[in-house]
Amino acid sequence: MSSLRHAENKSLWVVRELGLPAIVRTCVSCRTDRHHATGKIRVNANGKQLDVWLLVGCARCDRTSKIPVHERVHVSALDHDRLVRFEHNDPAVVRELVHAQPRLDWTGTWELETDLSFYDVEKADQPLDVFVRFELPAPIRVEKLLTEGFGLSRPAVKRLVDSGRIRLPLAPDARARADFTFQSSGPNSHAPGPSGSSEK
Ligand SMILES: [Zn+2]
Repeated sequence: MSSLRHAENKSLWVVRELGLPAIVRTCVSCRTDRHHATGKIRVNANGKQLDVWLLVGCARCDRTSKIPVHERVHVSALDHDRLVRFEHNDPAVVRELVHAQPRLDWTGTWELETDLSFYDVEKADQPLDVFVRFELPAPIRVEKLLTEGFGLSRPAVKRLVDSGRIRLPLAPDARARADFTFQSSGPNSHAPGPSGSSEK
């Protein structure tokens, strides 16, 4: 069986968003430290002063708690459109507020989709440019993307990286959370030297 040559030797990998990350904070009732967004934002007006909270629920006991977004802010200090979006629990704003939390657990929030079903990086005779696109800013170890994308074990990926067959813009154990491009080359294709193509 010969491996199929991929069209134009370019591949697109997409880190698809499956859901929102869990918010890491301790529940005052049950001490569980995972909360999920309820999808709701609460706006409370006291005269011209506004409070805005993101409402989150405990992953175990479902107790709701409030994470301050704005406290005692004058109504004129808030953009009107943004206030309307708060009042309508706009899902894009909820997502933005969740992503802005300082401690998040991204487990189960993404999956990798590739167009590489017939490509075997260990046997390929063509170099390949891979574009990795992120739909969400989940921090993911580069080597994890490679093991999933190529269907290889970690040692196999390490071998390909160490031998220069996979050329990365980041360390394999770095966490990527934004788009990047890397190159792989087959055992018989001529890899550029260390000072070779590095254009982004
Ligand atoms: Zn709880």
